Amino acid sequence: MEKPDLSGRIALITGASRGIGYFLAKELAVAGAHVIAVARTVGGLEELDDEIQRAGGSSTLVPLDIKDMTAIDRLGASIHERWGKLDILVANAGVLGTISPLGHVEAKVFQEVMDVNVISVWRLIRSVDPLLRLSDAGRAILLSSGAAHSAKAFWGPYAASKAAVEALTRSWAHETENTQLRVNCVNPGATRTAMRAKAVPGEDPLTLPTPAEVAARILPLASPALKETGLIFDVPKNGFYRYQMPEAVRD
Ligand code: NDP
Repeated sequence: MEKPDLSGRIALITGASRGIGYFLAKELAVAGAHVIAVARTVGGLEELDDEIQRAGGSSTLVPLDIKDMTAIDRLGASIHERWGKLDILVANAGVLGTISPLGHVEAKVFQEVMDVNVISVWRLIRSVDPLLRLSDAGRAILLSSGAAHSAKAFWGPYAASKAAVEALTRSWAHETENTQLRVNCVNPGATRTAMRAKAVPGEDPLTLPTPAEVAARILPLASPALKETGLIFDVPKNGFYRYQMPEAVRD
């Protein structure tokens, strides 16, 4: 797919300090967007900022724990004050939790997975939905996972959180279907990142696509030309395909 022209667009991306979010932030900036990059690790954000500047782009760094819900509310207000709108939201920050039988999962771990992967995503939606509607081509991309559908043994908390993200995507897409806003989910597939190494430690990372490759395939979902909404996209090895939600779910 062709790279979109995102000149003059404002993009907010969470989890931009490493992994898929880091490279997607860079892709957005190289395509012309001003990137608002959110994560806790200041070093990772600063490295991103350096790379974006070297590539001729621009970014604003927001060191933030996404579990700080009132900070998310303030973020929407600050974006409104400074830019008056938001064109692109990428809700990418995520945690895996522990891979263990449900009966062994610690309550605080389950809570953190839900807080980071679900509640903060809803809070972001609540904070920036009015700003995305002010854009002439608002685009929201929420990161899901194959685990949402193939919930394997021991992946319960993470799988439940990603199924919830897909449900939020569909609800939000229905709410906004008569606007310019397009809301979609993407499953990046197994990608060579810290999260994947934690999830599947015995795997040879060199067999997996790099986050840079995966990010380049996600970028077209930010395009002003995108027509689809309410879909769950998969990132395959070549090109880009999607699976349509069943009619029963659409109604
Ligand atoms: P990484 O673990 O490499 O990166 C996760 C990012 O999320 C980091 O930038 C981290 O920043 C940020 N993050 C985590 N917790 C918080 C928090 N409390 N506040 C702010 N930021 C936070 O993950 P990946 O790049 O692998 O994953 C990106 C997305 O893709 C996730 O949603 C993941 O579920 C999904 N995914 C990944 C797959 C894979 O194989 N890698 C497969 C399927 C889905 P920091 O620690 O600096 O705060």
